[in-house]
Amino acid sequence: MKIPTYVKLANIPNKGKGLVSKKHMKKGEMVLKFDQGVTIRPNSTASITALQIDEDTFLDSEPTQIRDFLNHSCMPNVRIDFDKMGCFSIRAIKPGDEITFSYVTTEYDLAIKNEAFQCFCGEKNCIGIVKGFKHLNKEHQIKLKPLLTPYLLRKLH
Ligand SMILES: [Zn+2]
Repeated sequence: MKIPTYVKLANIPNKGKGLVSKKHMKKGEMVLKFDQGVTIRPNSTASITALQIDEDTFLDSEPTQIRDFLNHSCMPNVRIDFDKMGCFSIRAIKPGDEITFSYVTTEYDLAIKNEAFQCFCGEKNCIGIVKGFKHLNKEHQIKLKPLLTPYLLRKLH
């Protein structure tokens, strides 16, 4: 597994391993490029860390990649961009900050494979049980619009 020099794997309270920045990043920077070990799988064989690209198309990793350690937060600092195949900062990131994205901005229905989980992000806007985009109310879905993948944008309309 290739780990960029500006991030490290660390133990995050309540979350297990996570990705922590070692440098300052500005809003809009590419934080990770998804160019290694990209494996496309249907939901039936996709791993728990796979990212949903479309209805039954998931970006999985073979072997494990650093992107697999991106944890969820309800107040994320990166978003996933499948057109540019990477994740991009949506606000400034400081050294020591955990790098997170909101799983409900890529995953439509985590409950379908029993992958819903309790969030421990501790943010004021924490959604509690993370079940996927499908399970959010319309108002919340609309609020997430700037972060959504093309697939979830289609689900919104
Ligand atoms: Zn949360």
